[in-house]
Amino acid sequence: MNDHSLAFLKRLLATPGPSGDEVAIGRIWQREAETFADQVYANVCGSSYAVLEGRAPRVLLAGHIDEIGVMVSAIDDDGFLSFSPIGGWDPQVLVGQRVRLAGRTGDVIGVIGKKPIHQMKPDEREKASKIEDLWIDIGVASRAEAGELVRVGATGVIDAPIYDLPGGKIVSRSIDDRIGTFTVLEALRLPERDRPRATVAAVATSQEEITFADAHTAAFSFEPQVAIAVDVTFATESSERRPLAIWQCAAWRRTGAVAQFCQ
Ligand SMILES: [Zn+2]
Repeated sequence: MNDHSLAFLKRLLATPGPSGDEVAIGRIWQREAETFADQVYANVCGSSYAVLEGRAPRVLLAGHIDEIGVMVSAIDDDGFLSFSPIGGWDPQVLVGQRVRLAGRTGDVIGVIGKKPIHQMKPDEREKASKIEDLWIDIGVASRAEAGELVRVGATGVIDAPIYDLPGGKIVSRSIDDRIGTFTVLEALRLPERDRPRATVAAVATSQEEITFADAHTAAFSFEPQVAIAVDVTFATESSERRPLAIWQCAAWRRTGAVAQFCQ
């Protein structure tokens, strides 16, 4: 991977994009696509498209640009925030995490708290935390103070930086599935240099973590004969620990488009 592409990948990974709130991350993807694609556009659902115009067949390359996150669901009298999950969380992963919320005038940092272990009875300590037992502390002391910073309905993500690890690896909260959106746009960059006969679109689809909704929209609006969706799955090789990217979006199969295995 060259330096330009790696910098693009890291911009994608660093920008929050919880499901339903994909506009900011979509703009990062679109700006890169505009440097080489014939057409770049977004739809109202938050998906982004980049197209190389050609003839038949119509080929769609897709990865989902949204990620799991949290949404503020209530503010209590002391300024603590209750929250709901966006997408599927293991609540144990959330305990003690810092979160970055989209506040009224900018990002607001909070910490996810729970009842201190010192105050738990022995049987309580054995129980897994539930999301309703957790809260976000943004460092204020009242509902009014909290309300000046964030609205109920504000979204957020885990506030975790990207780190380079040995062996050319990186760690990031949003690999699922920014790596897919990166892969499909880089794949589009290759035929741009050697124009294909096909019409090829790369799509960064929205809302995969909650509904799959915009994979359907992409399939019906672009009407591909061939579609390849790229997403992550569990590592299966303990010796190499390679993340595998596979197609796993049932939406394509429902449209009759063909999906292929990618790695
Ligand atoms: Zn995914």
